[in-house]
Amino acid sequence: MQASPLSEFFLEGREFLVKRDELFDPFLSGNKYRKLHTLLHTPKNRYKKIISYGGTQSNAMLAIAAMCKQKGWQFVYYTKPLSRVQKEQTFGNFYQAVALGMEHIALESSLYKEYIASLSVLKEEYTYIIDQGGADVNAHEGLEVLAQEIQSNDGGVKSLATPSGTGTTALFLARALPKYRIYTTPCVGDVAYLKEQMNALASIPANLIILEPQKKYHFAKLYPEFLAIYQKTKAAGIEFDLLYAPAMWLALLAQTQEKILYIHSGGVSANESMLARYSQKFSL
Ligand SMILES: *Cc1c(COP(=O)(O)O)cnc(C)c1O
Repeated sequence: MQASPLSEFFLEGREFLVKRDELFDPFLSGNKYRKLHTLLHTPKNRYKKIISYGGTQSNAMLAIAAMCKQKGWQFVYYTKPLSRVQKEQTFGNFYQAVALGMEHIALESSLYKEYIASLSVLKEEYTYIIDQGGADVNAHEGLEVLAQEIQSNDGGVKSLATPSGTGTTALFLARALPKYRIYTTPCVGDVAYLKEQMNALASIPANLIILEPQKKYHFAKLYPEFLAIYQKTKAAGIEFDLLYAPAMWLALLAQTQEKILYIHSGGVSANESMLARYSQKFSL
């Protein structure tokens, strides 16, 4: 696989570089592509079925669906019940994942937690379980490949940035690149929760800097300033996702000064359904 390219990017009078990890594939891209590296390089006959669970519009879900289609693996995905709007939608990550062959199982909300906890106990042969959001200990291998690509072409920049959900990407990247400063910000929960999630995977190195958001944001909620920075970055030439990137860009613009290499984390496929929500809420 070829290395993803770097692009110059100018925003609010500052110069950035963007590592274009969103360009790999429309569905299997960004950090989900990196996290699935090990499975993507696993021989087809090693597994028959992949199981995962989590959000109904998750980028990880869509990336896994695209991988399973490529590999000829069955993909079973568990969620809480879908909203009626989502069931009927003919666009968005869920719709695309089903079109790629994903088998969806909606669990009653009251049973969800217990059932998910039992998945690893019930696991059959030739089956692999990927935790929510692709938070997998094997994710480090793909992030080491990304780290090597950066080391061989960093445009002279020593500060990197990428937004966090589970924190898997930022953590393994920081561990693989001790000579660089890695900025991230929590998009799901607060700084304490992010640190807890990271510590469950591996110890947090000193070169990983977690920027506190300017205000408390709730994941997948709609904020006018998120839409505004999305539009600004798009007008500047690169489309980013609406769930994670806005908080990262806002934190970088407010709290850093140096030239930064931003690692595009993907997720652009979810923008159509997010923009539909934005236009309904703010009657655009
Ligand atoms: C999943 C995702 C993230 C968060 O990645 P983690 O490794 O879970 O921290 C960030 N940005 C986008 C677009 C994502 O899809």
